[in-house]
Amino acid sequence: MEQLNIDTVNRLSKVSKTAGGKGLNVSRVLAQLGAPITATGVIGGHYGNYLTEQLDKDDIHHNFSKIAGETRSCIAILHEGQQTEILESGPQVSKEEQANYIANFEKILSDANYVTISGSLPKGIHHDFYSVLTEKATLANARVLLDTSGATLKRSIESDYKPFLIKPNETEIADLIGKEIKSEPTLVEALEDEKFDGIEWIVVTLGADGALVKNKNNYYRVEIPTIDVKKPVGSGDSTIAGLAYALYKNETPEVVIKTGMVTGMLNTQEEKTGYINVDNFEALFEQVKIIKI
Ligand code: ADP
Repeated sequence: MEQLNIDTVNRLSKVSKTAGGKGLNVSRVLAQLGAPITATGVIGGHYGNYLTEQLDKDDIHHNFSKIAGETRSCIAILHEGQQTEILESGPQVSKEEQANYIANFEKILSDANYVTISGSLPKGIHHDFYSVLTEKATLANARVLLDTSGATLKRSIESDYKPFLIKPNETEIADLIGKEIKSEPTLVEALEDEKFDGIEWIVVTLGADGALVKNKNNYYRVEIPTIDVKKPVGSGDSTIAGLAYALYKNETPEVVIKTGMVTGMLNTQEEKTGYINVDNFEALFEQVKIIKI
């Protein structure tokens, strides 16, 4: 909109509707990369149906569990170079629906060697839910890439069944260990904390500044080129997709990191969220620098 007017009617001609949310952004980019995936979660009501229709249109294989509540709809208004969001809080998921979802998840696992879990939990779900999914996945020999925050992330890293990869930002790491992070050395020191033991990959993305990555006991500083950015929303999700894809392809740590950086960057160059132009992959890939520190 050219202008957002408060306390009156706003009429708009330019509207686009997408199957959104972090998990679906990851799914879309993985599908674009050519990975054989199944998108899963819970859906309900008309918006739930609309969402699966959109996934069908994009050829994204899916297997969702139905719930009684209505899938939420969120509105992002782009106006005067700003983005105002109106987010519904989403449906309640009952205990029975959670059990149904877990049973469905276990079936999907029989076919999966990597699982990506993104975003916050819906209402009614305990913050240990992702730890339960991680345990099920680990026992089925699937590795989990987890992109969440707050109590849910804390619970997951304290669990006996650790995620294979996490993608916290600096603030989340500071919150987890209760220390301030001011510089690269303090970030590295923070990642040495025993709280992170047993997590093979920790990818701290830093927007235009690239990332700092811990893989086993190795630390890498990742430098990326300056690029023209259209819309950075969803870059972290695209990074998760790139990391998952390269891990699934058994690539070296360097290629895994570079792939994640490039898919993140490619997303910033598009108007659409959680969408990349694969044609530009190679050119950017050459320009990512990895420095072992
Ligand atoms: P999140 O969306 O989770 O906050 P980031 O903003 O750190 O994640 O972005 C993830 C990745 O996307 C970065 O590591 C980088 O590769 C790419 N990226 C994000 N913002 C920019 C930017 N302004 N310029 C170039 N690359 C970017």
